Amino acid sequence: MMLPEHLTVAGGRLHIGGHDTVALADTHGTPLYVTDEDRIRANYRRLEDALTAHYPKVRVLYAAKANGNLAVFRILADLGAGADVFSAGELCLALAAGMQAEKLLFNGSSKSTADLALAVETGVKVSVDSLDELRQLNAAAAAAGKTVRIAFRVNPAIEVPTHPKIATGLATTKFGIPAGQILDAYREALACSNIDPVGVHCHIGSQILEVEPFVREMEVLIDLARDLLALGVTIEFIDIGGGLGVPYHRETDRAPTPQDYAAAVMPVFLAGIRDLGIEPELWVEPGRSLIADSTILLTRVNSVKEAYKTFANVDAGFNLLVRPAMYDSYHAVVAANKADAPAEREYTIAGPICETGDLLAKDRMLPALAAGDLIAVLDTGAYGFAMSSQYNSRPRCAEVIVRGDDAALMRRAEDVDDLTAPMQQPAWQQ
Ligand SMILES: *Cc1c(COP(=O)(O)O)cnc(C)c1O
Repeated sequence: MMLPEHLTVAGGRLHIGGHDTVALADTHGTPLYVTDEDRIRANYRRLEDALTAHYPKVRVLYAAKANGNLAVFRILADLGAGADVFSAGELCLALAAGMQAEKLLFNGSSKSTADLALAVETGVKVSVDSLDELRQLNAAAAAAGKTVRIAFRVNPAIEVPTHPKIATGLATTKFGIPAGQILDAYREALACSNIDPVGVHCHIGSQILEVEPFVREMEVLIDLARDLLALGVTIEFIDIGGGLGVPYHRETDRAPTPQDYAAAVMPVFLAGIRDLGIEPELWVEPGRSLIADSTILLTRVNSVKEAYKTFANVDAGFNLLVRPAMYDSYHAVVAANKADAPAEREYTIAGPICETGDLLAKDRMLPALAAGDLIAVLDTGAYGFAMSSQYNSRPRCAEVIVRGDDAALMRRAEDVDDLTAPMQQPAWQQ
């Protein structure tokens, strides 16, 4: 298998950022997520460089939901990123990691009164998803004597070649304001006493492996910007969201590079703004493409069973990595302690959860496996731990981060006390 450069094999063992995965598993136990900080930094710089080579006023907003560990937020804050936050929790983590409020965009199709109050209080920009929300936000801002800077999220009605559960720009999705209503929405925003519309926002979906949908998205946004200028809106930013895919099928997927993405999208943007006579910031909201490949999930083989198939039963399941069960996602797997042994047999990697669908990988050719062997599931940095649960009363595992020669926990493993801590005993049971 073609491994990315931060994953290497030495002495028959898989290494991440130069660290022996067998030693990491022995030290910290399994299951274990391991993240390479330098890989995140390299991914970020590659994207930023590709975009700023075309236009200097680019702002990268990390899509916070992809990986919610504060250590990851701090890396991105250090690189100068802002964040696209989708909840009060993500907003608070981004601020705690040192991101300035003015670099945050509070997104979401169903914000509560408390969410809107927090947005007003912290001074972040808001991506407004409905007229109802606009009116509530204006009232909250008026009550606080403040003005909130907003964009509307526009639904561009663009079909994208990805899994239907992660296509967000279809006309039928719950996200955004339909194109036919968007000008009226901006008109109303202009008339609101405590709202200042300053941008446009769009996000068409995730794990998109072609550039063409982003080009069409940019065309929609430029056309919208033209209409908004005519309405009298000042356009300070155009936000094209995230969604660039990664090559999970390491043998066969062709993912556009950041350079490919920039080369496709930037000419449309540049020609558009030149034509309109404006110089707004360009905002992008990458999640997956920044961190998916930075992280592996290490999981130990508990037993091997010859049945309908040969199952390698491991200690991580969809409690820790739900993508295969939820989206039929493919993740490459490596026998981490036998990384240069020849592939001999076909295995299905099955988790410990009491569900038929708890399979991390199906029908993979691997070296002969036995109890105690270590499996690495690759490309698990995005929507991996972030979507974990305690289902089956399984405490969540630890997360380790490596940088250069250093390795450290960025989250300790939970134990049974962490399961019971928030639970309360009703008086009548005492
Ligand atoms: C999830 C999300 C992103 C990030 O998507 P990726 O595919 O991880 O790049 C960006 N913007 C918004 C609004 C999102 O909901």
